[in-house]
This record gives sequence, C-alpha cells and structure tokens, in this order.
Amino acid sequence: MLKVQKLTKRFGGLVAVHDASLEVRPGEILAVIGPNGAGKSTLLNLVSGLLRPDAGRILFEGREITRLSPEARAHLGIGRAFQIVQPFPEMTVRENLMVGALFGKPGTTLAEAERVVAAVLEQTSLADKADHPASGLTLVEDKRLELARALATRPKLLLLDEVMAGLRPKEAQEAMHLVRSVRKAGTSVLFIEHVMPVVKALADRVVVMDHGEVIAEGPYERVAQNPRVRAAYLGR
Ligand code: ADP
Ligand code: MG
Repeated sequence: MLKVQKLTKRFGGLVAVHDASLEVRPGEILAVIGPNGAGKSTLLNLVSGLLRPDAGRILFEGREITRLSPEARAHLGIGRAFQIVQPFPEMTVRENLMVGALFGKPGTTLAEAERVVAAVLEQTSLADKADHPASGLTLVEDKRLELARALATRPKLLLLDEVMAGLRPKEAQEAMHLVRSVRKAGTSVLFIEHVMPVVKALADRVVVMDHGEVIAEGPYERVAQNPRVRAAYLGR
C-alpha cells in the first residue's frame, strides 16, 4: 500500500529523518513510536506531502508520489487527521465536513457528500453537534472533528499524529474503537503514538525510530524487548 524507501530529510545541519524505510500493508494498522525528536512527525509530513525529502522515494499503491503536492496525495487516498488548514471556525461542524467530502475526492456530487458526512457524523459521535459552529467545540470534540474531516475524504490510508494526546482513558478507548472501525471499513492506518498501552492494543506492527533512523520493526511485544529500543527510551 505505502512504501517509504530510504527517506532523508535535513533541516539545515540537522538530519531529522535518516535513510528511513518502512511499509504499510493493505488493511494494516502500523504504529510509529520513538523518543521525542526521533523524526516521527517529519516522516509523516513527508508521506502527506507537507515536506519534500532530500533523498529517497515514497510509493503509494505502486505509484511514485515523492514529488506530488499534498492535495494530489489526498486525491489518491492519503488522509491526515492533523491539520494542514485550521477548521473553518465560523462554519458548522457539518459544513466543515462537507468541505472535506467535496474537495477531498474530486468528482464527488453534493448528494454523495451529504451521505458521507451523515455517516461520518454518526461514526465520530458528532451528530448532535452537526449544526453548531466549529469554534464552540470542546478539546475532545475538536479532535473528533479533525478525525472526521480526514474520514470525510474517504482515505485509503489514514495518517494520525498523536491524536490520543490529552484524552482521558474513556475518550482514548472511544478513539481506539473508532480507529478499529475505520480499519474494518478497509482503510489502512499509520499512527504516531506516545501512549504505549494504545500502541500495544491497536497496532498490528510497530516501527521504532530514534535519531531519524528506523531502529526496529515488528510486533509490539518483540520490539518492546529489543535492546536498542530500550536503550533509545532510557537514553533521553
Ligand atoms: P518527533 O515527532 O519524533 O518528536 P520531529 O519529526 O518533530 O520528531 O522532529 C525531528 C527533529 O527535527 C527534531 O530535532 C526537531 O527539532 C527537528 N525539526 C522538526 N521540524 C523542523 C523544522 N521545521 N525546522 C527545523 N527543525 C525541525
Ligand atoms: Mg511529533
């Protein structure tokens, strides 16, 4: 589904991502973990197209997307639930989702968009807030809206950057349930997460980064035992 091959990204003298390779398989939930500053968000930004790599390639469904714009990647089916653009605060929740549904996938009719938005509102428990302005939402509802906007584009691959941060345990459970339901509907998920119980419960496979490099890959139990991984977390 997604192949990241030997990606490198520098910021001046700093190598944020160094020769990193990974793969997301169809229908898979892949977690990317690693200490602060490991290069996880930079890697996600390279995949979504917000940043361009200095070296390496990105393939999506067999097609090279390394130099495509974020919009072109979104149209191919890569959705992200962290913001490129802020939600439109003066618009309602429903209107925000309509924007995602109509512009996330070219050729979507108004009737189709309305159907998708109704389903996403239910899925993300935002139905009772549908006609409220986006500016009046709580933190949790804000996060749901962010996820809902990504889902409204009907992605084949969903990218999540620490969406559980700041959630209470019950809210995190709901978010995990939502991610599972997204995968059940056929979407692959690549998520960055700090909360290890969430990683353990949700991920089919885990990729560990440290200092820009991929240092381990495999099932959670195995990477958690990996001496390099343990050293990376203890060393900071
Ligand atoms: P993580 O998400 O794993 O915490 P990041 O990808 O955000 O790590 O950052 C990796 C490294 O790149 C860090 O040292 C960070 O300070 C640096 N970095 C990230 N974005 C930029 C930027 N836009 N300009 C300069 N340095 C950056
Ligand atoms: Mg980050």
